[in-house]
Amino acid sequence: MTAGSFRASVERMFNRAAALVDLPPGLEEKIRVCNSTYTVRFGVRLRGAIHTFVGYRSVHSEHMEPVKGGIRYALSVNQDEVEALAALMTYKCALVEVPFGGSKGGLCIDPREWDVDELERITRRFTYELSRRSLISPSQNVPAPDMGTGEREMAWMADAYKRLHPEDINAKACVTGKPRAGGGIAGRVEATGRGLQYALREFFRHPEALKRAGLSGDLSGKRIVVQGLGNVGFHVAHFLQTEDDCEIVTVIERDGAVSAKGGLDIAALREHIRETGGVRGFPGAEFRENGLEALEDECDVLIPAAIESVIHADNAGRIRAKLILEAANGPITAEANALLRDRGTVVIPDLYANAGGVTVSYFEWVKNLSQIRMGRLEKRHEEARNHLLVKELQRLSADAGFEWTLSDNFKSAYLRGADEIELVRSGLDDTMREAYTQMQTVWFEDDRVDDLRTAAYVVAVRRIAKVYESLGL
Ligand code: NAD
Repeated sequence: MTAGSFRASVERMFNRAAALVDLPPGLEEKIRVCNSTYTVRFGVRLRGAIHTFVGYRSVHSEHMEPVKGGIRYALSVNQDEVEALAALMTYKCALVEVPFGGSKGGLCIDPREWDVDELERITRRFTYELSRRSLISPSQNVPAPDMGTGEREMAWMADAYKRLHPEDINAKACVTGKPRAGGGIAGRVEATGRGLQYALREFFRHPEALKRAGLSGDLSGKRIVVQGLGNVGFHVAHFLQTEDDCEIVTVIERDGAVSAKGGLDIAALREHIRETGGVRGFPGAEFRENGLEALEDECDVLIPAAIESVIHADNAGRIRAKLILEAANGPITAEANALLRDRGTVVIPDLYANAGGVTVSYFEWVKNLSQIRMGRLEKRHEEARNHLLVKELQRLSADAGFEWTLSDNFKSAYLRGADEIELVRSGLDDTMREAYTQMQTVWFEDDRVDDLRTAAYVVAVRRIAKVYESLGL
């Protein structure tokens, strides 16, 4: 591990918090270390030649099983990165009370270089290699999508696993983030972006926290800069624009940044990226070739949603956002984190902010194990009880001599039983609110804790320590 690497950064952040928690001798080291990392090199015959691919699956902590974490497809994937991301998963799951240990995987590949059939063959072969070592399994290790992967890859992995384990009735639960038709859950694709929206909404419910960030009021009209308009960046930007009246003033992508006073139309911009491959040329917007410069734009909230370490010691001093919502994993290095803290910039940390994905993955895993859609048993029963209540109230009011009618809006909102998507969003909202409260309590009440990230780690480390203690370690 090199000083200044992503993993070193995560460890520094962990060490800072662990020093504030009273742990039995040796437990800090046990929690910090990555238990194992498997490296695999496998060949696939494509385009008339055998191509060798390098993949990783790292297991950071098995204090709870299965372990959980995404699979990333990118040329930049390496052992250090996978181990850092696996460690983050351990702390993230503990913080949001998802009963999993931490894991992460990756394949060194640029998915844009291969066509769909080729990607499918590569993914199925990678799944076979993982399965041989129980690194994909409903009870031991459950991958999910990450950068460069999505529903399609998860469906291939689930199918490949099922073929290898036809007797396993829980086979579908071997990965999450699957399409609905393949055993997925409503709201998984949007989950990380949705969780980020709920996290920001929760932050804005606390005037003292807002004051610390130099912000006030509600989300309406807040100017937001987003880096990376992929799955996570698109959903959070789209929800904040369409449901909270925020202005997404700048979007930074690989080819540069586009800005517009009053905000960019995020749905249209995503379509433009799909058609042209980048943000350049988006109608009505100003384009800058050096996208990274836009991270330094004056705004209320900066949302890095692309890759790690984009805010580092060299540019941290020039960041003018009041609040940074970490959508990507590890977008701020440990050095930059300290500089930002000293300048009073508030950071809502990755292990909390982007936990929506793993939270809804947990719901999907539970759904797969229970073999039933969420709400299927209760929905009509709930509706019937609501109708009964309203009928009785109407009868009582008629008996008392006054006419009482319900508006159509109320009826459609109240009388209807909840669908799976509503239950998922409700569970996610609750998770984000609860975890924020835990974090903020530590942030406000412990004088030694000077930022939300340290508070998040303190909550997570305390919880993990309790599990280890209960195991007798
Ligand atoms: P994605 O592949 O869907 O999107 C990434 C986007 O970032 C793409 O639009 C890409 O063009 C852009 N990008 C890549 N490099 C860039 C650069 N140097 N500058 C500007 N833009 C760049 O990936 P995603 O699933 O949205 O993941 C994004 C981040 O969120 C990652 O750090 C990932 O680990 C994290 N995350 C994802 C999930 C999830 O559920 N997908 C959950 C938690 C955290």
